[in-house]
Amino acid sequence: MATAPKISSSSVPNDLAPFWMPFTANRSFKARPRMVASAKDMHYFTPEGRKIIDASAGLWCTNAGHNRQPIVEAIQKQAAELDFSPTFQFGHPKAFELASRIAALAPADLDHVFFCNSGSEADDTAMKIALAYHRAKGNASRVRFIGRERGYHGVGFGGTAIGGMVANRKQFGALLAGVDHLQSTYNRAEQAFSVGEPDWGEHLADELDRLVALHDASTIAAVFVEPVSGSTAVLPPPKGYLKRLRQICDKHGILLVFDEVITGYGRLGHAFAAERYGVVPDMICFAKGITSGSVPMGGVIARKGIHDAFMTGPDHVIELFHGYTYSAHPLACAAGLATLDLYRDENLFERARKLEPVWADAVMSLKGLPGVLDIRVVGLMAGIDLASKPDAVGKRGYDAMESGFHDHGIMFRTSGDAIAMSPPLIVTEDQIDEIISKVAAIIKQGA
Ligand code: PMP
Repeated sequence: MATAPKISSSSVPNDLAPFWMPFTANRSFKARPRMVASAKDMHYFTPEGRKIIDASAGLWCTNAGHNRQPIVEAIQKQAAELDFSPTFQFGHPKAFELASRIAALAPADLDHVFFCNSGSEADDTAMKIALAYHRAKGNASRVRFIGRERGYHGVGFGGTAIGGMVANRKQFGALLAGVDHLQSTYNRAEQAFSVGEPDWGEHLADELDRLVALHDASTIAAVFVEPVSGSTAVLPPPKGYLKRLRQICDKHGILLVFDEVITGYGRLGHAFAAERYGVVPDMICFAKGITSGSVPMGGVIARKGIHDAFMTGPDHVIELFHGYTYSAHPLACAAGLATLDLYRDENLFERARKLEPVWADAVMSLKGLPGVLDIRVVGLMAGIDLASKPDAVGKRGYDAMESGFHDHGIMFRTSGDAIAMSPPLIVTEDQIDEIISKVAAIIKQGA
């Protein structure tokens, strides 16, 4: 049985005001904090030592489970050995080693890795690479981007602009010019309670042709999609949809970028969703699972042709004027290498693949509970739409999350009134049962 690891400080601080918490209802939180002080494998522990089962892998990131010893040791060792190294004009071995390991996991000729520190930075980096790539190829007019409604691409100005979550956009003005959105592939009437990729919706990819007709292909740099949208409570792609997007992009010389910040590193039973769906994008954005959430890291994997377009001209001059002080930070690289070792040694991607039907059956057993409007499940992800309380959109979701933590000892994500889950890939069948019975109790209580 998991017990709380020893921690240095277990008391709740007196003053919670100074920390302006991100993406948080600060006033509600601070009135009744949901605080965690330590973690191990599948569990968090509160400062009082209460055990919370983690049904969301933190924020979709701790794919190998929490505080895994090999990752902890790798970080500790690295901190004592090399705390920081610039990766502008200098390098350190683990950065190159990790890039090779990631390239080996990526499909086809996605062979080159540009490191940054988060998913948001990965998305903005991929947007800048797309612009600079087209310019390098003599296509400087390709400056437009196409995202998708209900997509999430982080919180940079670029990612916010191509993202399609209204709440994330509306406080921030006009954002970036020259951005269009495909419609969301989600349609409850056609897709409700489908397991995995819904049969309906492939034709929605043809909207891209309509946008090309409107703007002309010569103005469009790239299309960004999450293979499965995570933050909007798990929207799997309709069968054939991603392939069709690929064909249309190919026809018009438009880059296709997969934002795999959530779907990468085993979440769908493969290193990347690109593999599951048999579609090779031009770039993959990743973060989260690369270090199993232990140290911030993100990156972009680019096809050889994109990378090579920058490798012309005098070789003593910088080729891509972009990067971050903490790109390929030694602690993140050490954590990334140890995490990839764990994924390999424990066959965690394969494990996720094998557990997928068990997970799907368990989650789908919630169908029929009062107020359950739809359930989507793919890989080790699940989204459960709950009926809103009258005139209080989001309140039911918030209450479910709060009660989950305080009364039932479970952590999951919510998006409006939907529950979203993505347990660490080490989850056992018993723990799946435990998660589902807790969620069932919460749903019944809020009905
Ligand atoms: N893209 C996707 C698909 C994500 O799910 C997220 C984070 N949930 C991001 C980008 C942004 O990542 P970060 O919060 O690390 O900036």
